[in-house]
Amino acid sequence: MMDKMQRLRELTQEVAAHARRYYEQDAPVIADKQYDALFDELVALEQELGVSLPDSPTHRVGGAPLERFAPHTHLGRLWSLGKAQSKEQVLAFLQKTRRSEREEYLLEYKFDGLTISLTYENGLLVCAASRGNGVTGEEITAQVKTIRSIPLRIPFQGRMEVQGEGIMRLSVLSKYNETALEPLKNARNGAAGALRNLDPKVTAARQLDAFLYSVGYLEGREPFATQTEMLEFLRQNGFPVSPYERLFQGEEALLQALDEIEAERDRLDFLIDGAVIKLNDCAYRQALGFTDRFPRGALAYKFEAEETTTKLLDVRWEVGRTGKLTPSAQLEPVELAGVTVKAATLNNAGDIERKHLAIGADVFIRRSNDVIPEVLGRTDTRYPDERPILPPTSCPACGADVEQRGAHLFCTNEDCPPKLVAALSHFAGREAMDIEGFSDKTAELLLAEGIVRTPAELMGLSAKHLEGLPLFKDKRIQNLVEAVERAKTRPLDAFLFALGIPNVGRKTARDLAEAYGSLEGVMSADREALMQLPDVGETVADSICGFFQSQRGKALVDGLLAQGVTPTWERKKELGDAFLGKTVVLTGTLSSMGRSRAKELIERHGGKVTGSVSSKTDLVVYGQDAGSKLTKAQSLGIPLLDEAGFLAVLGEDLEPEGKTL
Ligand SMILES: [Zn+2]
Repeated sequence: MMDKMQRLRELTQEVAAHARRYYEQDAPVIADKQYDALFDELVALEQELGVSLPDSPTHRVGGAPLERFAPHTHLGRLWSLGKAQSKEQVLAFLQKTRRSEREEYLLEYKFDGLTISLTYENGLLVCAASRGNGVTGEEITAQVKTIRSIPLRIPFQGRMEVQGEGIMRLSVLSKYNETALEPLKNARNGAAGALRNLDPKVTAARQLDAFLYSVGYLEGREPFATQTEMLEFLRQNGFPVSPYERLFQGEEALLQALDEIEAERDRLDFLIDGAVIKLNDCAYRQALGFTDRFPRGALAYKFEAEETTTKLLDVRWEVGRTGKLTPSAQLEPVELAGVTVKAATLNNAGDIERKHLAIGADVFIRRSNDVIPEVLGRTDTRYPDERPILPPTSCPACGADVEQRGAHLFCTNEDCPPKLVAALSHFAGREAMDIEGFSDKTAELLLAEGIVRTPAELMGLSAKHLEGLPLFKDKRIQNLVEAVERAKTRPLDAFLFALGIPNVGRKTARDLAEAYGSLEGVMSADREALMQLPDVGETVADSICGFFQSQRGKALVDGLLAQGVTPTWERKKELGDAFLGKTVVLTGTLSSMGRSRAKELIERHGGKVTGSVSSKTDLVVYGQDAGSKLTKAQSLGIPLLDEAGFLAVLGEDLEPEGKTL
């Protein structure tokens, strides 16, 4: 028996150490299979002996479900913070609490998850609880133990309570939702729901994470002098702490940092809903005490909300360039992050079904800075007048049949008006034929008037077609006609891109132009030859061949040529030799241009710029203060080109910076 207990102790430590290396440091030293074997041995031994050590990694996978949550009284109260919605309120706080110019404030993220409190005794996690009302919460120890980043054992031996936030990373959420039968509405609900689920296995499946930011109760060491010291202590004891932690003295820098955090929040892999400003001096903060509800020495600055709920009024199906029908949610207008939101995207019919959406239901919507609002899910309130959302059986724009391809519906009509409008807009776009003054609205108008339906008709546009149209005055007519005329001599790469060949973007169009030099050349290229080009695989090659062989593709090209379109291409001869198809590394500082400009020029001439020198590198272009990359290239015998040589090769092709390619 003693031997077995000894083995249990050893195994617990060994498996825990491997788990740490694997999950936290991402540096496993044994194979998964060996780890699994050790883990299984530990599970078997724990079952045989009927015990498991408090820091056993087996707790991480979640034990038996609980019948109910037991109440837990916190050793130290968890306070909520006073909230500021404006910079004025932040300033008022700073002015009220500042003793001198040098008063230090610590700025941290305000995480958006579920607040948790962890109790450690003799170096072991003995209890975890939710915040509850701040005095009493619910005990969720088994659930919290599934969070791999929370240490079960720490070096510090005193009794203490650590406070923080249980969160779900956004990358984990999206992966979870890919296969989940019941997708989670957002990361906050994902974390809170998991931690407050009676079955710890459900918690484990959500792969939560946590950030700890405060010690709420402490025995066995000196009180912390500053907040930064406290965070350092947490870090040394292996707790995950906030990746953002900055000290400020001046007001201005702090206010600016608030804006920066708000602007950057969408790039984080977790939700934050504000920032927390704390006096760094703990004794002073303590001395300031509390109002009836909040501590006086800290403040939460709340960002504008990115999520809210509103009513789903209807779903409209919109047709895109490829004929794809995309559902758009029509919403009861609601204020969100500074704008009024009336519509939001839904991906496809399957998505609507998975989210159990219905017309008349209350839905969660989210809007971040640069992103179109999206519908995350619905609330649990069911209204008697809800109606199901039925995917259309015919195209809402033209009435033609629709067909299902993969998860999406498509209109089968080649001449469906929204498709034509989108194709015309693409054709006239800046990167394509660059017809200035030709917008979606223009396309819609000319299509509705029966003047232009195809790119060829657009290229045949003359002043007399436009006379008398609403909002078309003489000047505008002249400008548009001139822009069309100019477009007739656009370079070949722009022309190829304008055709809208599936899978052919701007770069592939340029590679095609450079490789073949003429439209005839590109049109007669065969599949195998195309696949020799950089970044052209089977799909793209098939797409290109298929397009030029199709009736539609031929008709489009013939029609354009008949209107006098003559795509031109001047092969950059010596450039072609220097960079075409080559892998180039840039290093050092070029005095004549920035790194991105040099990269652009090389790419424009068929080269590919990569970051590191290897045996696959064909050429190294170097400027001043070139370091190890140059040395490595020399040792590998890779051809080198200095700045003067680089400029000579580019020769007359150097255009002033900023000009559109
Ligand atoms: Zn249609």
